[in-house]
Amino acid sequence: MAANLTQHLRGGKQVLQKLDAFSTLSPVVTRVLGQNPGSFTLNGTNTYLIGSGPKRILWDTGEGLEDYVETLRKAMSEVGCTGLQAIVISHWHFDHLGGVPSVVKAFSESETSPVPVYKFIPEELEPSYGGEGAVTPYEIWPKDKFTPLGDGDVLRTEGATLRVYLTPGHANDHLVGVIEEEQSMLSADNVLGEGTGVFRDLTAYLASLQRMKDLKPQKLYPGHGPVIEDAIERIDAYVEHRMGRVRQVEGAMRDAGQEAALTVEQITRAVYPSDLDPKLFGPAMYNTVNVLTYLSSEKRAEKTGPEPKEPFTQQWKLCLSASASGL
Ligand SMILES: [Zn+2]
Repeated sequence: MAANLTQHLRGGKQVLQKLDAFSTLSPVVTRVLGQNPGSFTLNGTNTYLIGSGPKRILWDTGEGLEDYVETLRKAMSEVGCTGLQAIVISHWHFDHLGGVPSVVKAFSESETSPVPVYKFIPEELEPSYGGEGAVTPYEIWPKDKFTPLGDGDVLRTEGATLRVYLTPGHANDHLVGVIEEEQSMLSADNVLGEGTGVFRDLTAYLASLQRMKDLKPQKLYPGHGPVIEDAIERIDAYVEHRMGRVRQVEGAMRDAGQEAALTVEQITRAVYPSDLDPKLFGPAMYNTVNVLTYLSSEKRAEKTGPEPKEPFTQQWKLCLSASASGL
């Protein structure tokens, strides 16, 4: 999933571009919606059929809703696709992975030759958390049933060559895929069609955005929302948005006084607009923690006071050396 802060970016109104249940986007890419719209998934999760032959690659599977399998079946028949060669999962969040059992069941030729499911397998699972991270991945699909993918691996199908790149930050197993024939990129939850997303590790996330930019994609097929035609500009805007947030957090702390101790909640209230949808305040506080962790790794902010039970009541202050040098 992709907790989006669209409402914040658009002054409190969430305006989503309507997307059809399935759409042919290029000679080798068809988008099929996961049928799971919501305030955190925009129009729902985008899944993509890749290739031009009778058997294609499916990128992501939605969250496992019944309607999705039927929608996928219709889309496949519309584009002359009779089967799935492989499924590739961008990352472990259940709105991308949850459809694997039902899709494999529906499209495998037999129980003894199931559609293979490819995914990067991290050494350690990230701890589960609310929303997109509420279900641990191997509860959905056992670890030993995945075919592991590595950074730079290639899957070929008729009409398309798909190369995957490890791009962590939103999740520690996050992949993007480049379709080499059209220099397009499946950006999953790293860059969304509308609004911005959440991330677990800002330092890794910024490095991944840079890596995506270095791959010079012509357009992005995101995990949520419409196709992004101005790929490089959008990636730049994401980086600038994040760095702007870092500056805002530092500014809010400086405004409170060089040695003031502020909780995560206080900083979030100072940085985000007062009319932010209460449902998005949790993800916003989460992003503030990530910014503070990033500032801490840069020795620009530090935790202070006792370790609280509730992480959002943790107090933080600016590092004196950083504030003295005006960073
Ligand atoms: Zn996600």
